[in-house]
Amino acid sequence: MARLGIEIVEDLIFYFPKRYEDLSQLKKIGELAIGEHATIRARLEQIKSFRSPRKRMIITEAMVSDETGTLRLVWFKQPYLAKTLKPGAWYYFSGKVDDKYHFEMVAPIYELAHANGEQLHTNRLVPIYKLTEGLTQKQLRWLIKLSLGASQNIEEWIPDFIIKENDFLSIPNSLKEVHFPNDIKDAEQSLNRFKFGELLLLQLIAAKSRDSLKTLPAPSIKLKPDILNRSFEKLAFELTEDQKTSLQEILVDLSGKHPMNRLLEGDVGSGKTIVIALVIEQAIANGYQAVVMAPTAILANQHNETFVEFFKDKGINVALHTSTDNKINAKELSRKEIHDGLATGEINLVIGTHAVIDDKIKFKNLGLAIIDEQHRFGVKQRQALREKNQADFWPHLLSLTATPIPRSLALTLYGDLYLSIIQSMPKGRKPVETQVVKESSRANAYGFIKKEIQKGRQGFVVCPLIEESDKLGFKSVKQEFEKLKEVFPDLKIGLMHGKLKPAEKDEIMMDFKNKKIDLLVSTTVIEVGINVPNANIMIIEGADRFGLAQLHQLRGRVGRSTDQGYCFLFTENENGKTIERLNIFQNSNNGFELAEADLEIRGPGDIYGWTQSGFPQLKYATFSDKKLLKSAQKSAQKIFDEHGLKKFPALEKRLEQFERTIHFE
Ligand code: ADP
Ligand code: MG
Repeated sequence: MARLGIEIVEDLIFYFPKRYEDLSQLKKIGELAIGEHATIRARLEQIKSFRSPRKRMIITEAMVSDETGTLRLVWFKQPYLAKTLKPGAWYYFSGKVDDKYHFEMVAPIYELAHANGEQLHTNRLVPIYKLTEGLTQKQLRWLIKLSLGASQNIEEWIPDFIIKENDFLSIPNSLKEVHFPNDIKDAEQSLNRFKFGELLLLQLIAAKSRDSLKTLPAPSIKLKPDILNRSFEKLAFELTEDQKTSLQEILVDLSGKHPMNRLLEGDVGSGKTIVIALVIEQAIANGYQAVVMAPTAILANQHNETFVEFFKDKGINVALHTSTDNKINAKELSRKEIHDGLATGEINLVIGTHAVIDDKIKFKNLGLAIIDEQHRFGVKQRQALREKNQADFWPHLLSLTATPIPRSLALTLYGDLYLSIIQSMPKGRKPVETQVVKESSRANAYGFIKKEIQKGRQGFVVCPLIEESDKLGFKSVKQEFEKLKEVFPDLKIGLMHGKLKPAEKDEIMMDFKNKKIDLLVSTTVIEVGINVPNANIMIIEGADRFGLAQLHQLRGRVGRSTDQGYCFLFTENENGKTIERLNIFQNSNNGFELAEADLEIRGPGDIYGWTQSGFPQLKYATFSDKKLLKSAQKSAQKIFDEHGLKKFPALEKRLEQFERTIHFE
């Protein structure tokens, strides 16, 4: 049981069935039909074990009867049964009726008929648990049944008014219904109570965290309209409606006295960068410093180029700080000069990797901290960034993600964040032409790709990780690399994988940008943010191994210019469901739609391959329980805003426990 995480009685009673088997259809022997699964209540007449003459296998054979007839039962390799089952006693038997040799029930589940009629293993909806070696369903059921009484001692922690509103049963009754339900509806309703409870706790943590920000001071960044308008005029395009709305929402937060905590979500290429450039400019105009932290050196460099260009001739110092690069306004500089510049306030904006949260870094007066691809960073790193200030206030925090997270999921995951979403794409973007390619058409696809490259374009080839032991994907890309060198002897093929050092990766990316590489074979390390507009071909091998949202991110690497982009999906898996899933992808260019579909099909853990990085591991609820989620949100708000958490001591206690067990991002 320890292997299943069951150590104390409480673990046992909260070890829920993964499903139920319906053995409630009680039949008379006289009514049994061949081929059906049925349960009978019958008297054991006789039982014996013997070895089969040909296969030398132990066979146990029994005769049972009820008032309508007699039936033969047979089990294989279970000699002890002849001693366990007692002639003359009444039992329930559940199993398949067969007539292969005789008319008989094969290897039925048996259970002594109890006087009170309360069966555990037969004649009911039977709970089926996840097992481990050395443990049987019957043992586990029996132990759970035995332990359920202890649930009387569990303190009710959901406030009374919520229990009434939702018609929840008490904890002991709910537990009984989850394990040994009368019907499936009762089981579901009881399970909902526990799902709801979990979501409620999540929402309360979020509410607490939002609330705690309201006690902290932050600089009030006031809008300077003339500066904003001048920057607008300089833009080569007009902002989309969603960009405008997001900008507005952020500016309103910044003008407040308490730290902003907002997530800006927008598909790849939706134009988040310009939005943050405009708000950074406002922060600097108000006399504060800003920082942008990105997960990779490549991304940091790319942002640096953009911002140096954006702030050119505006008298603003933009620094780049990674483990390898240190620049101010694109000119090389020493690490120490960066540290000094940040401490004195001479540097207005610094862009960097984790390097910006090094011990040595201190900001004079950091007003705005921006984290790009925020899910790539942990809680601690974000916290560290906030604490880099010498000034006695907290910076406003803006997180960015290009992963379109469905709103329902975002609210569960990031309940403590306010959301701004850029859904619509800038005008004039051509959707990437996407095609699932059968193995038999591979040669054709390669022909097409070769032609595009001969026209001067470039492409990516992304391979999945094939083996657990090959975490960095070295093996899979290496094989593909060798293969493609043979297929395209005239092309320059590059290789990129997780084993390379950051500087090596950067070098390869630069070679690719500078067209020294035609086709870049890579693991998903290229997933985040790379911008090479000349690349218009994305080839994805083993496409079935990726989530839709992840595929969408990969596809977003191409089609970044006004020219047509192409995405080829290869898969050897011809399973109907897989093809259906890939077809959804082929036919949609909307990241939010795809993430939503992924959520339904695979669940959130799989969507982004983030299981490792800070998804709260929910025990009962799933992120697609939208109705429950809404009602948990409402209840959390009521508890927090109308009553105050202090009024519910049992809930407060439970919340503290929960906070200790959950990894909450
Ligand atoms: P992402 O959201 O992936 O970070 P970017 O900010 O890099 O996207 O924007 C992608 C490209 O779209 C950039 O070249 C940017 O200049 C351009 N862009 C941004 N907003 C608009 C707009 N409203 N109209 C046209 N082009 C835009
Ligand atoms: Mg970006």
